[in-house]
Amino acid sequence: MLDIDRLRADFPILDERAHDQPLIYFDNAATTQKPRAVIEAQSQYYRHSNANVHRASHYLSSRATEAFEQARHNVARFIGAASPREIIWTRGATEAINLVAHSYGRSQLGSGDLILVSTLEHHANIVPWQLLAEQVGARIEAIPLLDDGSLDPIAYRQLLQQNPRLVALTHASNALGTLNPVAEMTRAAQGVGAKVLIDGAQSTPHLAIDVQALGCDFFVFSGHKVFGPTGIGALWARESLLEAMPPWQAGGEMIEHVSFASTRFAGLPFKFEAGTPNIAGVIGLNAAIGYLQQLDRQAIEAHEMQLLNRALALCSEIPGFRPVGQAAQRVSLMSFCIDGLHQQDIGLMLDQHGIAVRAGHHCAMPLMQRLGLPGTLRASFAFYNTLEEVERFAAVLGQIVREQTRRPPQHSAVSVAD
Ligand code: PMP
Repeated sequence: MLDIDRLRADFPILDERAHDQPLIYFDNAATTQKPRAVIEAQSQYYRHSNANVHRASHYLSSRATEAFEQARHNVARFIGAASPREIIWTRGATEAINLVAHSYGRSQLGSGDLILVSTLEHHANIVPWQLLAEQVGARIEAIPLLDDGSLDPIAYRQLLQQNPRLVALTHASNALGTLNPVAEMTRAAQGVGAKVLIDGAQSTPHLAIDVQALGCDFFVFSGHKVFGPTGIGALWARESLLEAMPPWQAGGEMIEHVSFASTRFAGLPFKFEAGTPNIAGVIGLNAAIGYLQQLDRQAIEAHEMQLLNRALALCSEIPGFRPVGQAAQRVSLMSFCIDGLHQQDIGLMLDQHGIAVRAGHHCAMPLMQRLGLPGTLRASFAFYNTLEEVERFAAVLGQIVREQTRRPPQHSAVSVAD
């Protein structure tokens, strides 16, 4: 049994008030809140260990370097990597995808090559491939979506018959919550010789990840979505693949020897880490995964699903409520519209009640075009959210909708009064 109150006490921001109401934070797909362990690890680092890493032969620098490299070990273990040499620090999922597009993409893809993405992708897993395609003359196709918000498996198999060189696929959709069967999709893609990149930005916060079980070639995620700091994330790829890839950014840290005639690059993982890294970010991310690893992740998954199911059940009684995306496999995120009302207006009205949700296209414009919607409202849950918060949210939403549409009041189990 999860003790949610005890977990909530680890997150100081959850005590904040917004517009003089208790904060209800349902924008976890955009970024998650940080436990005290993360805030304190960063503060401790700056108070006691701040120095540049891998450089000086002094006490503080070795302490910073040790913590920095220990974090790489821990992140490797967190996602099931075979070695810390396979973990490349990046600013986040976006930068990790850009790294692969620049390094792997430019060196391995050429004219006429096919890159498959899916209709569910975040812009971060579309635009880098478009820039690459323009540069090397490759082409891009999108795996179509079924009406329930899952990807069309038959169309996917047909697209694979065109022998794509690369398949770039989100594990979980940030806009609909759909959880893609990525292990199975990866095997199918590799069967026709494609490399597979999995965007784990939205799965890592909810599920235990094992990149070797997924079988993919590249996996990316962002620290700030797994309760860690902003500005830090990671790329994982198998060592042999990373060894064969050229560097992308150049500068200090990523070299072994430089002369004006030529440069010899450093080995893994430093070859891909030019310049002074986000040391405090790495320290904070390490604390975040340490925090997550001591939780019962199965119990968390079950609690998050309970939040989602309760939200769907309560909201389905609100007149005009239309959930968007009903795939059988999903993470705890509810995307929806209210007939006749604009999602931005509802988002602003919920905010007046202290409830933070996201309204808009969620950086997935091609998906919204496919759905024929300008955007949706999105309530995205984390383990520190409670059933009481979900009930208050549904009651407030119901009240807003009734006020805006002047529909007769419906019975509600929860009072919206403070
Ligand atoms: N992919 C997905 C599915 C996302 O949800 C996000 C962030 N919303 C990203 C990629 C990009 O992550 P970041 O902005 O942290 O680089």
